[in-house]
Amino acid sequence: MAASEDNSQKEATKRAIRFTLFFLLIYTAIQYFEQSTPELLNYSEFKNRVVAGQIKEVTIQNETISGELSSGDKNSRYKVVIPSIGDTDLMPLLDDKQVTINAKSSELPLLVRGLLGILPWILIIGLFMYSSRLMQKRIGGASGGGMFGFSRSKARRHEGQTISVGYEDVAGLEQAKADLLEIVDYLKHPQKYLDLGAKIPKGILMMGSPGTGKTLLAKATAGEAGVPFYSISGSEFIEMFVGVGASRVRDMFEQARKDAPAIIFIDEIDSVGRVRGTGLGGGNDEREQTLNQILAEMDGFEPGEAVVVLAATNRPDVLDPALLRPGRFDRKLTLELPQCAAREKILEVHTRKVPLKDKNCLKDIASRTVGFSGADLENLVNEAALHAASNNSNQVVAEDFEYARDKVILGSVRDDLLTDEERKRVAYHEAGHALTALHMKHSDRLRKVSIIPRGRALGVTEQMPDEDRHNFTQDYLEERISILLGGRCAERKTFGVVSSGASDDLKQATQLARRMVAQWGMNDAMGPVSFPQSEDHPFLGREMSEPRNFSEQTLTQIDREVTGLLSRCETITEEIIEKYQADLDKLANALVERETLDEEEINRLLDYAGSIVQP
Ligand code: ADP
Ligand code: MG
Ligand code: ZN
Repeated sequence: MAASEDNSQKEATKRAIRFTLFFLLIYTAIQYFEQSTPELLNYSEFKNRVVAGQIKEVTIQNETISGELSSGDKNSRYKVVIPSIGDTDLMPLLDDKQVTINAKSSELPLLVRGLLGILPWILIIGLFMYSSRLMQKRIGGASGGGMFGFSRSKARRHEGQTISVGYEDVAGLEQAKADLLEIVDYLKHPQKYLDLGAKIPKGILMMGSPGTGKTLLAKATAGEAGVPFYSISGSEFIEMFVGVGASRVRDMFEQARKDAPAIIFIDEIDSVGRVRGTGLGGGNDEREQTLNQILAEMDGFEPGEAVVVLAATNRPDVLDPALLRPGRFDRKLTLELPQCAAREKILEVHTRKVPLKDKNCLKDIASRTVGFSGADLENLVNEAALHAASNNSNQVVAEDFEYARDKVILGSVRDDLLTDEERKRVAYHEAGHALTALHMKHSDRLRKVSIIPRGRALGVTEQMPDEDRHNFTQDYLEERISILLGGRCAERKTFGVVSSGASDDLKQATQLARRMVAQWGMNDAMGPVSFPQSEDHPFLGREMSEPRNFSEQTLTQIDREVTGLLSRCETITEEIIEKYQADLDKLANALVERETLDEEEINRLLDYAGSIVQP
């Protein structure tokens, strides 16, 4: 990029020099016509000289008179300004003295007039050319197409050798890397595979929640294979104009084929690859055309063409089945959220350049960041380093990670001031959650309770499982609902009324209960049936969504069962709060005093032996 900027700067200087030269030329021309500078006389002196007979000739133009002094040598030209009130005696006087009178029209010399005439045109044409060039640049984007550069592919091309990431930068994801190594080998030595008549998959679809490293893995694959890498995001195909997406696809595949062996990476393919024919409207037509073009291009690969298409999505469920058919994206890789060991490796990758006080602390952090994605962990490391730097420390220590983790999970600390009354209410609310959690058999370990306002919440009760969980049992989920209702129950028990602070808890609890009843078959009355909750249509909103395919009665029954489940769970919570009222007070008072209690402090305070108490 730097080279081309240099070039354009040189261009600009050249243009400026040409411009100046041009104006100098005009200026000298005018000067030439004006001739040498004359002596400026005042009017009275001029008249005196006329009377004295020293003036033989006058040239009158507008308000000036010029001419030659008869007595003078070569450069005794003169110039006079005539008073604007006029002098009626002048003409008779000149006649009298037999002075030759020339009159000049007030018009400018022909050359100057001509120049002035075309100047506006030059300006207008120049402006037009400049702006159209600017437009071309904008529209054409990096690939720099012409005036009609819309249709050019917007794919960014990376030279294989310049890609700095490789598989050593991707931690965990061992299975996915192993699968992709086959592709890497194929791209490196396509002939080997062709000779054996082996068919290599053309399309590989990477699925995984955001931040699991899909984009990273695609790039690293190109880096490993050392081949050009075309990357484009699905949404970039879609523009204002219908048909643009399809021609962009064509263009991108064409470029990649010329460059083969190469990798094409379509990020967020779900934005073009959604199931076709589900909605109305122009945007949809455009998506369909784009998708059809992708399919056509993938079918059109010659057997010998070493172009592999990688695609990524976090919504595999909405993809058009045609995309997943054999011969297209038939190879699928699922990227899971990292487990404990993988999290530790990811942390290691991202702390390569961070001066750590103790490498071993990473293990501890990894175990306490269940559910974090690779991107979250990268962010965590950055936050920790920022915190260490703001403390003017030259090393990152475990406390920095602790701080960063809280910030990432719970949001930044808000410094709004709560009244004493509010603080007490929040303390009882959180103590309610904590106490319920402590008395549940299957629930996750209670790690921390705090009444420091963070993010949107006024306080938090944090639980974290020892192991990464994949699956939840009915007992666990019911207990979870009880814990969610704990805050509200404690408030009601202590203050007689509940506050709006429990709204988020209620929302979560209700969602959970609804899923248990309607989707997970955890309700005997409803039976082992899944009643899909219709998904909101991405463009047209809820009204145009897939119609509900069960009756009004069923819906009413679901509602009834959900309410029933919630109140059963609430009863359990109420019993616990009733029975351990003294502990609730202890916890709440300690919170008002200390704001944050960790696992150990809670256990000491309540004199409980284990971390989880079984009543
Ligand atoms: P996705 O495309 O799946 O949403 P990205 O590939 O963009 O996620 O990941 C975002 C960032 O998270 C990457 O730039 C990388 O720094 C980090 N990251 C994610 N997964 C990993 C991993 N397995 N190893 C190392 N870093 C990772
Ligand atoms: Mg991505
Ligand atoms: Zn709560």
